[in-house]
Amino acid sequence: MTRRFEGDQVLVATHNAGKLEEMEQLFAPFGVKVIGAAAMNLEEPEETEDTFVGNARIKAHAAVKATGLPALADDSGIQVDGLDGAPGVYTADWAETPNGRDFEMAMTRTHTELQERNAPQPWTARFCSTLVLAWPDGHDEVFEGTVEGTLVWPMRGAQGHGYDPMFQPLGHDRTFAEMPAGEKNAISHRADSFAKLIAGCFG
Ligand code: IMP
Repeated sequence: MTRRFEGDQVLVATHNAGKLEEMEQLFAPFGVKVIGAAAMNLEEPEETEDTFVGNARIKAHAAVKATGLPALADDSGIQVDGLDGAPGVYTADWAETPNGRDFEMAMTRTHTELQERNAPQPWTARFCSTLVLAWPDGHDEVFEGTVEGTLVWPMRGAQGHGYDPMFQPLGHDRTFAEMPAGEKNAISHRADSFAKLIAGCFG
């Protein structure tokens, strides 16, 4: 039995505006309001684990400790088969520059490394999302979601965030960045983990 979440607002332990907006849209049909980490002046903890679940746990429990409220955290990334699963948990790190994150640079690196390895096409990949909902007594629930697809080059589309312009979900002919938010949010890795979270804790 998973523990139910009581309440009509949830603290989401992310400073990522794109993720927060996606969460707001996903929670809206359930009448659950979302509060972001920035609004609560939360610090970003260091993500020192080498798994999605490990890092999501760090973020969720740090937010609980700082606020005394239950908190939801997501750790996500893209696994590229031709790169042995990289960048994986280091997806955001590949975009890091002294002046903030540059995802065009990260996608260019991904493409360059695939070419350098002569990785055979199609370049299969998946987005992964691990959600951890944590409570002040230390309990947590974990939900994992994925979406399979291929990487395209050159990148296409201007919507979405992160690696969206390079990722074409299986069975579709547009990248995530060419889809309206509602369409992406219906099939994304976060939609998958989120559906499991709703069924487990909000249903
Ligand atoms: P973290 O979960 O904040 O550590 O970062 C995960 C990184 O994965 C993000 O910064 C994005 O680069 C990438 N990512 C996760 N979900 C998506 C998505 O839905 N579209 C595009 N990129 C994503």
